[in-house]
Amino acid sequence: MNKIKVLKKVNMFCSICGEEHELDLCEELDETIIKKEKVNYICHYYRCNKYKNENTFMTEDMWNESLINSLDSYRIEKDLLTSKEIKKIRNKYKLSQAELAFLMGLGEITITRYETKQIQENSNDSLLKEINNNAIFTLKLLENNKNKFSSKRFEEISENIKNIIDSETISYLKQEEIKAKYVKYDKKSLENGNCILNIEKLSNVLGYITKTMKSVKKVVLMKLLWFIDAYSFKEYGKAITGLVYEHRIYGALPIAYDELLELPSINYEIKISDDEKYEYKIFANKDYKVVGLSKQEKEIINKVINKFKNFKSHEIAEYMHEERAYKETKSDQIITFDLTKDLREF
Ligand SMILES: [Zn+2]
Repeated sequence: MNKIKVLKKVNMFCSICGEEHELDLCEELDETIIKKEKVNYICHYYRCNKYKNENTFMTEDMWNESLINSLDSYRIEKDLLTSKEIKKIRNKYKLSQAELAFLMGLGEITITRYETKQIQENSNDSLLKEINNNAIFTLKLLENNKNKFSSKRFEEISENIKNIIDSETISYLKQEEIKAKYVKYDKKSLENGNCILNIEKLSNVLGYITKTMKSVKKVVLMKLLWFIDAYSFKEYGKAITGLVYEHRIYGALPIAYDELLELPSINYEIKISDDEKYEYKIFANKDYKVVGLSKQEKEIINKVINKFKNFKSHEIAEYMHEERAYKETKSDQIITFDLTKDLREF
């Protein structure tokens, strides 16, 4: 039996008995079959209490909403974009339904159908996800389909897409670069500290460090990451970020160290120092909300920050040079996490 919830009583025309009176506005988790799959979805309807059976009816809006809810339940199961997500992509680029369809090289009403009554084909789902993530790709699509737009609209849309490239796409592409550089480390091992790189987790760790420390030099930040992972591995047998570190002059340096500075949780400034070296000062992105770190992970990060918060770049490098993990590895070699078992106590 499905659970029916009465949301409220409303006075209105009843389609069951043909007069105006008080009706129950009900909500129910219903079940249907879509493409041979059973899905649950929320629907709303009115109930006339003058009758025991056949006493409910839906308005047209309720029908449409139920249909969208059931399609979206299926989409969530299949990891497809929901109708709301498709609409959100369209709104981000400030496109009408027809314009998004033209941009994708599809018929005029395709997107309208996806937003109201039809599940998108897998190929168009992938295309929409790429459009969402990669505005450079979107700009290319627009140029390929230029003849479908007036020159005024073409310029406006082009401008909107360029703004999105500026604000989001560079970070997305850097994340893809990080993923590419870690493609070999897709299994738990001593190289990644029994932890497969999770970019979102890494972004949150960086956000947490920079929110706690206000600002931090690049060399110090890279060392902090290693000490955090090394300490976590030593104590709990598992690193936190999944980064893989190499033996470099200043100590441990994670693979894709430059790209990780582009993650959305942090910002940085570059200055040229007196001895003509680039100095990176990294700080928190105030708009980024740090989430998903456990109490234990925060304790480890805090412990490492407390130990090193007043260390200058060369001091933390010198400290690292005394670690067995550093002494027992050669230049450019990966520092495996088994070497952290002799990590000095903080
Ligand atoms: Zn009635």
